[in-house]
Amino acid sequence: AKVHADLIWFNGELMPWENATVHVMSHALHYGSSVFEGIRAYNTHKGTCIFRLQEHIDRLFDSAKVYRMDIPFTNEEVKQACKDAVVKNKLNAAYLRPLAFLGDIGMGLRPPLDAKADLMVAAFGWEAYLGADAIEGGVEVGVSSWNRLAPNTMPTAAKAGGNYLSSQLISMEAARHGYTEGIALDVNNMVSEGAGQNLFLVRKGVIYTPFSTASILPGLTRDTVITLARDLGYEVREEPISRESLYLADEFFMTGTATEIVPVKSVDGIAVGTGSRGPVTKALQEAFFGIFDGSTEDKWGWLESVND
Ligand code: PMP
Repeated sequence: AKVHADLIWFNGELMPWENATVHVMSHALHYGSSVFEGIRAYNTHKGTCIFRLQEHIDRLFDSAKVYRMDIPFTNEEVKQACKDAVVKNKLNAAYLRPLAFLGDIGMGLRPPLDAKADLMVAAFGWEAYLGADAIEGGVEVGVSSWNRLAPNTMPTAAKAGGNYLSSQLISMEAARHGYTEGIALDVNNMVSEGAGQNLFLVRKGVIYTPFSTASILPGLTRDTVITLARDLGYEVREEPISRESLYLADEFFMTGTATEIVPVKSVDGIAVGTGSRGPVTKALQEAFFGIFDGSTEDKWGWLESVND
């Protein structure tokens, strides 16, 4: 879906959305050399707050580190850019997209050692990623014939633009088969992640999720759900998950900043549990969305006001 806002923060200044353009010879366009984040700001009981902003910006700099990309702004400056992008666009709630990329730095795939990344931050209104009804009604998914990146090919812990070619293959194949989203197995054919979501199963009251080494992006929503689940007294186990355990789970849900927490109704046409949202998924959704209306105490300092 096309998105829009009045202003975009680009290399240190807020400028009209239409003016934030790059050259067609940009390195990132040819070779995938970008790192980015997806962050949400919520309209909370404490005003507009960005969820886990510090950790998202830390992950942006971690992704840049892996690719030896020099972002010529400090962590603090990027955080302020995110807040400014929300405030100056007069948004109460927003999806934020900071992106660092190699621009017009010359031909040749190996970047010069002194190359500096360009940095932009967009903030805009964006509704539920998997559709308005997905949070309650759930979605149907299929296991992809495409595996997720192997650890020694492209590192999935770095949120790099190029990784999303893998996600596009997975997601486009899923759509062609009539599924809302695709699930990828890792190079060992164990469950990895969705095209843009981490995965959780529930069986006999215990919550399972793949190890952070299963070719996944270690998601912040994943970490949030693990933290909330343990706080609610659930046992959460990180372990390798086989394809068939998706079919045999009592509940299955996906997590991500854009996706939030979405139940999965069926995998490869096989109903998961009752085929509708289960009680553990519902409890975790309530705990998660409760952070934003204050019904869940923010013990962890996850909400950062855009005005701080
Ligand atoms: N895996 C992939 C491939 C993703 O793109 C995302 C979304 N950023 C996630 C997992 C979930 O991560 P997070 O909860 O930090 O948004």
